[in-house]
Amino acid sequence: MDAWQAGMQRISSLVAEQLENVQQPFSGITPEALRPAFAELDLETPLENLEAGLEELQSLYLKDAVYFHHPRYIAHLNCPVVLPGVWAESLLGAINSSLDTWDQSAGGTLIEQRLIDWTTERLGLGPTADGIFTSGGTQSNLMALLLARDAVCEKLPNHPGNQTHGLPPEAGRLRVFASGISHFSLQKACALLGLGHNAVVPVAVDERRRMDPIALREALDKARAEGLIPMAVVGTAGTTDFGSIDPLQAIGRECHARGIWFHVDGAYGGGLITSRRHGHWLKGVEMADSVTIDYHKTFFQPVSCSACVVRDRTQLRHVTYHADYLNPELQAREGTPDQVNKSLQTTRRFDALKLWLTLRLMGADALGDMLDCVIDLTREGHQLLAAAPDIDVVQAPELSTLVFRFHDANEDTLSDAQWDALNREIRKRLSRSGEAIVAATKVSGRQYLKFTLLNPDTTRDDIAAVVDLIRQHGQALVKAHHLAVSTTAQAGHGAPLADIPAASRRSHTTEAKESRHA
Ligand SMILES: *Cc1c(COP(=O)(O)O)cnc(C)c1O
Repeated sequence: MDAWQAGMQRISSLVAEQLENVQQPFSGITPEALRPAFAELDLETPLENLEAGLEELQSLYLKDAVYFHHPRYIAHLNCPVVLPGVWAESLLGAINSSLDTWDQSAGGTLIEQRLIDWTTERLGLGPTADGIFTSGGTQSNLMALLLARDAVCEKLPNHPGNQTHGLPPEAGRLRVFASGISHFSLQKACALLGLGHNAVVPVAVDERRRMDPIALREALDKARAEGLIPMAVVGTAGTTDFGSIDPLQAIGRECHARGIWFHVDGAYGGGLITSRRHGHWLKGVEMADSVTIDYHKTFFQPVSCSACVVRDRTQLRHVTYHADYLNPELQAREGTPDQVNKSLQTTRRFDALKLWLTLRLMGADALGDMLDCVIDLTREGHQLLAAAPDIDVVQAPELSTLVFRFHDANEDTLSDAQWDALNREIRKRLSRSGEAIVAATKVSGRQYLKFTLLNPDTTRDDIAAVVDLIRQHGQALVKAHHLAVSTTAQAGHGAPLADIPAASRRSHTTEAKESRHA
């Protein structure tokens, strides 16, 4: 116990020291620069003590880690974490409960169950709802589609069920309908489920990038006419790139009318159940048969923390298997709450504790206010981008992302492909400088940049500063392009497409420093 306490104290002071000294979200290190230190390591010979271990970690990891709490980390759906979640993380690691069975977790199981009930109540899924904590949205989507697949196959004539007999011959005709910008975990899930990526039918979106319910109806009619079997419709509540929320109510009605499983992928937008101002954006989610919700995104929890919940708890039987050594059927009949009966995993972390301590110490409203804050900030960021003559912004924000590119309309000598290369290069240079981390995506085949705002500490000024950095890199690249064109023209060559010079770590670090001084 003395050693544990001393170690925890040492680690917390190291983390505090580290976080206090973080000046920018990333050091900008490349894999090539970091890799040699790992090649030299001898894992057969342990270090002398904790101090030596931490010192090594400092150079192998901490000094170059990507810091999500930094206000200029605005790339992916990574949130800064709330203190109760971080505290809970060290508690659950030390106690090390496993939430597969009651006899390995006791109160931990009841804490998880209460949070599942809290979540399904807020979603409005009704009295028969249930669910389970998972490792993330990917596992939640896989589980939901597995339940949908087995539920639909169970109704086929002459098929005693997938769970014992495997897939029926009709499996090749199963289809999942989701908007064309839904998350790629749906394709992965379909591959794992024996249906293949192609089982996912992309449905068109409207101008705000929400699934078009008329296109859905047409796609379902067409599938029926072709003898295909609709297995599920997935409505995304918060697409990863655009934050767009599909019209859940319209999709739900369509699914109910046709008897099709309705899954809502709320990995991103699920946090809206805590928002007092924007909760109504999820209207229709209460019609879902299953919902994916990622607490490690919009509930500001440390990774991993996620859930898959269902309207009808009896559907969870599709993942139940009784083993004499773990969860005998008799135990279930006696009413012992063994969570493994409704999970894809066996040994499972007590991730629920993080959300529990957060709700008990901060309350749901505090989380909702943080989400509302970044939603407001995104609107301000949009005004800023929309007002910039050298920025193309794709659309007004839905949740908390902004998709745009550096594109100076007065600069007509660059081809589309060159603007693409230029925007890719801007992102690379920004990342190598480490001053800000942004994401990238494609829109209609063209290269764009993306901000994902999840940090209530990020300000309008931070966004403006990152836009300035993007502009500086963009202008420098345009200038370099002109130079290259005139040099190659003098030399009698045409201007090659790859005339945009690759980022060199040294030159742009200097550039970044100069821009800071400027
Ligand atoms: C992040 C995300 C997922 C995947 O969740 P993980 O927790 O990363 O596994 C699924 N769907 C959407 C819409 C997401 O944004």
